[in-house]
Parts: sequence; C-alpha cells; structure tokens
Amino acid sequence: MNVNRRNWLKAGTLMAGGLALGQYPAFPKAYKKMQIPVLEEDLGQTKEERPPLKARLLANENPFGPSDKAKQALINAVDGSYRYAFEEFKQFKEMIAEKEQVTPDHIMLGAGSSEILLAGALAYGTEGKKILAADITYMDLLRKAQMHGAAWDQVPLKEDLDYDLDAMMSTLGAQHSLVYLVNPNNPVGKSIDPSVLKAFCDQASTKKPVFIDEAYIDFKDDVERNSMIQCVREGKNVVVARTFSKLHAFAGLRVGYAIAQPETIELLSKYASGGGTISRPSIMAAMASYQDEAFQAYSKEQINLSKAYLYKTLEEAGYDYVKSDTNFVLFPLKYMSAERFQEEMFKRGVGIRKWSFRDKEWCRVSIGTMAEMKIFGEAFQQLA
Ligand code: PLP
Repeated sequence: MNVNRRNWLKAGTLMAGGLALGQYPAFPKAYKKMQIPVLEEDLGQTKEERPPLKARLLANENPFGPSDKAKQALINAVDGSYRYAFEEFKQFKEMIAEKEQVTPDHIMLGAGSSEILLAGALAYGTEGKKILAADITYMDLLRKAQMHGAAWDQVPLKEDLDYDLDAMMSTLGAQHSLVYLVNPNNPVGKSIDPSVLKAFCDQASTKKPVFIDEAYIDFKDDVERNSMIQCVREGKNVVVARTFSKLHAFAGLRVGYAIAQPETIELLSKYASGGGTISRPSIMAAMASYQDEAFQAYSKEQINLSKAYLYKTLEEAGYDYVKSDTNFVLFPLKYMSAERFQEEMFKRGVGIRKWSFRDKEWCRVSIGTMAEMKIFGEAFQQLA
C-alpha cells in the first residue's frame, strides 16, 4: 500500500476526529457545518515544494528548553513508564497548590492547557449558550464552543489593540454563560494592567464565571501580581488556565492545569480526564522544571534577547510592531498580502503565521533562537 506522508497525516486527522466524535453522544448539527482548519496545511508542512524550515517561528514554542533537569527527569522516568501516575498526579497537584496558596481541590491537570480549554468549552459553551470574548483573541475555546452549538458574543479590541473591558462589562448579561479573556492576548502580545483586570474580574465574576487563559503570563515580570489566581484565592468565580508549553518549553510534552473554585474544578473534570492524559514521564519532567527557577530565568532572558533583536530588525526596516509581553511579536505588513508574505517566507525556510484584520495584513513571529531570528531577518529584508 502506498501511504505517503500527506495521506498518512489525513488519515491521522480523520482518526483523531473520529475518536473525538465518538466521545460525546449527542453531537450538535453545527459541528458538521463547521470547517475545521487543517493545521498541517496552514503550518506549511505538507506542500512538497517548500524547503524544510530553517526557522520555525509559527507556534510560539520555546527553543531554549526543556531544562536539563526536566530532560534528566524524563530519562529517569523511562523505566517506570509502565506504571500509571496516580501518586505523581497527587504530588504534582500538591506542589502547584503550595506555590499558589490554594488547596489541591482547586486544581485540575490537563494534557497542555488545550485540554483545559476544551473542558471550559464543553462546560460553558454548548448548544444555546453564549460566551462573551474579545475579537481578536485565541480561538481554541471559542471554536470548540461554536462546534458544540454555542455563540461567541464578540467585543472588538480598542484601536490600540487593548481589550475594551468597559464595553465587555456593559455587554455582560444574563444571556452569557462565560467571559473568556486571554491575558496576555494571542496573537496581539499585549497584557492588561493587573489592577484594571482585577477590578474587572471582581465585578464580572459576581455575574458570570470569568475564564482567564494565562498561557503567556510567565513572561511577565511580576507573575504573582499579574495572575488572576489571586481572585481564585479570594473565593471568586474565576478559572485560570496555565500551561508548561511556553516558558517551560513543554509544547511536545503536554502539561497544563486549571486553578478554580473546587465546585468549578468538579464541573470541568466532567469534561476532561483530570490529568490521566498526561504521561508519567511528562509529569515527572514538569515537577523538575517547576522547581528549576534558574532555567525559567534563563529561558526568559534568552527570549528577551531574541525579541530585542527582532524589534531592531523591524525598526531598521521602518516597520511598526506591537510591543509584546510574550514570546511572539505581531506587526503590520506594508507591501504585500499576509498570504503572499507567508508563502515567500516559507520559500526561504522561515515559518510564520498570518492575520488579516482592521484593513491590515499582519505577521506574527514567534521568538526563536538568535540564529533563527537572524534567518528571519535576512528573509524579511528581501521582502520588506
Ligand atoms: N492558550 C493560548 C493563548 C495559546 O496561545 C496556546 C497555544 O499556543 C494555548 C492556550 C494552548 O497551549 P497548550 O495546549 O500547549 O498548553
């Protein structure tokens, strides 16, 4: 049988889709109508004419890790991989609980924060429900909710691409099942002033649950002040989703968690495995990385150095960009469509992502190693 890579990928996608469909008994009709984006196409991995990527700057991964201690923990965990990770889940939850000053029943583990977002979508975003969220933002939870028949009540970002929290607050009403905010926002890269966000969460959470996706919060300087875990600690109806994929460089290891009120964790747990999807080696590695503050500081420092280089590259070419609190940078293109720019960059071995909004074409570049940023710079100069 002739199974080429493309067919194999397609078969994999269908299989994954089949499993997901089988999981939920009453599947809404809306799902069938939705066009599910084929990620491989978008990431440029199936077009045979494209050269292999020299700089993979398209998925906000972190090439500066995982930490050596996490790698050693993975190696040490291999022999015990035949075991389920019952004890390790417990230990890991206790570790997070202690750091965040909550009890373990405030925590749910997931295979990356995507599993947490899926649980959020299924708990709050099924047929007839309405989620209040900004437009432009990270779409995973919203797309899943739409696939299950929920509506997305969109509040546009302000002119400067900040959230319009006043408009969100005045729109929030009985018709909503959830408020979803990504802070810092993806693909914008900006974050909300913590005291403003805290005031918003305090008020909004008296009406409806507020879900804050903090995938990139670790790149902020004062994480404690910027994170809305403080609201959970105060007993508010706030859910915080966190991931190891970004600062800890665990995108391929799949570790994430939610922090929320115990009754909310119970609700979310109905729609997720509660940690059973994370492999034992990944849990062991996550515990090592969680405690490896030297690596976390190194990771942040390297990202900031590469980001400064990218800013300089864009400035020298006379381009504007959105100053970013994350490991990616969004900037408006000048002379060509985002589609064409992405294609030209792929031809030069550089993978980036594209957006079109506000009558502008945008490129989002993830922060890579300095060598990758230089490769980006060289390709960019040919097109700028
Ligand atoms: N949330 C945001 C805002 C993201 O950008 C991403 C990934 O890029 C995720 C969640 C999901 O990441 P993961 O499932 O790897 O934790």
